[in-house]
Amino acid sequence: SMASPALLMRVVASAYSVAEKAATIVRNVMSAGDLGIVEKAGPNDLQTKADQLVQMSICASLAQKFPKVTIIGEEELSTDDVTEDLIEDGHCEEILKKPCPAQYTGIKEEELVIWVDPLDGTKEYTEGLLDHVTVLIGIAYGGKAIAGVINQPYYNYEAGANAVLGRTIWGVLGMGAFGFQLTEAPAGKHIVVTTRSHSTALVNECITALNPDHVIRVGGAGNKIIQLIEGKASAYVFASPGCKKWDTCAPEAILHAVGGKITDIHGNSFQYNKEVKHINSAGVLATLRNYDYYASRIPNTVKESLVP
Ligand code: AMP
Ligand code: MG
Ligand code: MG
Repeated sequence: SMASPALLMRVVASAYSVAEKAATIVRNVMSAGDLGIVEKAGPNDLQTKADQLVQMSICASLAQKFPKVTIIGEEELSTDDVTEDLIEDGHCEEILKKPCPAQYTGIKEEELVIWVDPLDGTKEYTEGLLDHVTVLIGIAYGGKAIAGVINQPYYNYEAGANAVLGRTIWGVLGMGAFGFQLTEAPAGKHIVVTTRSHSTALVNECITALNPDHVIRVGGAGNKIIQLIEGKASAYVFASPGCKKWDTCAPEAILHAVGGKITDIHGNSFQYNKEVKHINSAGVLATLRNYDYYASRIPNTVKESLVP
């Protein structure tokens, strides 16, 4: 008989279905019309009913199947009394059929850390910029982001009623990433993607120093990594603290699975062990190709302002 699939592949296959359920919740909250917006740290740090329900759904669903895995979600919520309608116990059969990369076949539950951003791009969600929104489930082992799922609930929402709404992108290091068409940005052009709602003088100073041909300002860390892997932008540059480990874990795994690179503004890689501090205090620099071009042009004045 066939050996049962490796734990990592079972977790990714489940995370895929859990992220699809999450996307349904994100769309349902929006169409019901009452987002229930509350401020966390301030007016640019929001939470809605969707952030809450999705986090409960993802964390409770994964905890039920994988009780010894550490799961860290963005929102401070208890998942003790999550109602049955929020639980997803399915998995993606196609993912389960794929062989696990050899270096990950022996992973045990207690060695995995899952970083959950139930709704990335909340500010944009509340403003109707719906395709900026993603659901992020990142999977870390040995402090490294090794697998990830990004669901974009409103992918195609401007393409008309006949278009299929939403998509799920997933990837595993050593295997690749799926659910999108890998595309390189136009050669010889420097297109920088950055924050839309968390700009600062330093964020803009850093971008100006890169002398880009074009700057794209959109919400969401997940969304910006999608811009890189689909060739819309050549670098994601964010010279500010504010982005957290749940913002970067799933995007990092997918970007690295296709040969890209993400670090802080100094070039330090991110760590995802459960004890790590949540904030990425020295910003973000990510590219699919030509990382060194951008890294070498980050001004020292910017680096000195951002302490890792
Ligand atoms: P953005 O590119 O502005 O959409 O930010 C990417 C992610 O980092 C989102 O989850 C934001 O909520 C988070 N983030 C970035 N800057 C800040 C900030 N100053 N305060 C709170 N969250 C932030
Ligand atoms: Mg986020
Ligand atoms: Mg969020």
